[in-house]
Amino acid sequence: MSIDGKVVAITGASSGIGEATARLLAERGAAVVLGARRTERLERLTADIREQGGRAVACQIDVTRQADLTRLVERAVTDFGRIDVLVGNAGISKISPVADLDVDGWSAMIDVNLRGVLHGIAAALPVFREQGEGHLVTTLSTASLKIVPTMAVYAGTKNAVGTLLEGLRRESTDGTLRTTSISPGFVGTELASSIDDPHARERIQHAMDAFAIPPTAVASAIAFAIEQPREVEVGDITIRPTVQD
Ligand code: NDP
Repeated sequence: MSIDGKVVAITGASSGIGEATARLLAERGAAVVLGARRTERLERLTADIREQGGRAVACQIDVTRQADLTRLVERAVTDFGRIDVLVGNAGISKISPVADLDVDGWSAMIDVNLRGVLHGIAAALPVFREQGEGHLVTTLSTASLKIVPTMAVYAGTKNAVGTLLEGLRRESTDGTLRTTSISPGFVGTELASSIDDPHARERIQHAMDAFAIPPTAVASAIAFAIEQPREVEVGDITIRPTVQD
């Protein structure tokens, strides 16, 4: 059971859960390939990890573009020889009441949260197949378990990814592909900054300030799934603040 020596590509690595996951996995000996749009943040994180003796490279990607995910996976293979795990974590939360008809916000969430994961799958699966093994981890949300007003579309994208992963899992029971869904509750990150609706943003920010768990807690859950031996697949993990209803 080990993370040491694994090659892990992470989308949404420039902040929050992705950043915490990159730091933890690198600390435990993984080589990490860090994908997101904000290169400055990625470069700083890469430098930090290297300073501490870890292995990391930054790769500017926009998950809404298939070619960028292909480049992320290629970077793992070119720099570190393979890709053991893709963590499809990039996400946005443009929440608002459905009746407000924020069609652009809906599209943006579908593009990042759902299409972004599909793009990762399209990029990684052929390489996993060639290697004879691979592991897909995605970040879902407790928002898709209990549908809170304003979160219907966001929850829908997360539920769609859960469905997608379960379908993929059942198509791939030959032992070469592992899939894991992590569903966090409130986590103290920058996610609320992607909310345009001021009331929804204030409500989420208030909950985050009051009782969010740190992103390192989610990183530990991801590490747990990754460190299992090949024949053990951790399917779903829900991790939330103890006081969250
Ligand atoms: P952050 O806002 O801190 O992180 C989101 C990450 O996604 C950033 O690194 C951002 O990087 C990246 N991202 C956004 N859009 C794109 C894009 N088009 N292409 C590439 N990267 C993109 O929030 P979290 O860490 O909280 O979010 C991580 C995941 O966890 C998300 O999927 C979120 O839905 C999920 N989640 C979060 C919860 C929470 O309470 N925080 C609860 C449940 C789930 P950049 O802007 O540099 O591109």
